[in-house]
Amino acid sequence: MKDKLKFYVKDIINSVRYTDSFMIDPNSFKDCFSDMVITKDITVTVNFSLYKNLILLNGSTLSRVTEICSRCAEPFETVLKEDFSESYSQDDECIDINSLVRETLTLSEPMKPLCSKQCRTNINNFDKIEVNNKEGDNYAKSKEKTYKGKKR
Ligand SMILES: [Zn+2]
Repeated sequence: MKDKLKFYVKDIINSVRYTDSFMIDPNSFKDCFSDMVITKDITVTVNFSLYKNLILLNGSTLSRVTEICSRCAEPFETVLKEDFSESYSQDDECIDINSLVRETLTLSEPMKPLCSKQCRTNINNFDKIEVNNKEGDNYAKSKEKTYKGKKR
């Protein structure tokens, strides 16, 4: 079976314009995302062009995923898109973009995913935050008590 992420330089040089778009197995790229992300499918698009004695690559990854919202903690479906670009020598025999794709997928995952822009102002969330603060106070006070108790 041909490795989808490997390209022969000969093939690229022989074609005037080398563009391709294909799916890769999400299970093989699970480690690029955090445990909270469930990946449905990943599409990789590559566009090779020749410049002097170089091969220029421009491409992108597009992942359909289910993430957990960092504010309301609800799962939601979204698309993570990230571009990549790289250059290679025409003297090489083969171009392997495996690590480049892995790096790009890792970068495509947001640090704090939000289910919607409105989630921030959701009234239920303000309630949750207040409750959390109260719990936090009580927790601190109970800690204080324990500490004082031990000291005596
Ligand atoms: Zn949310």
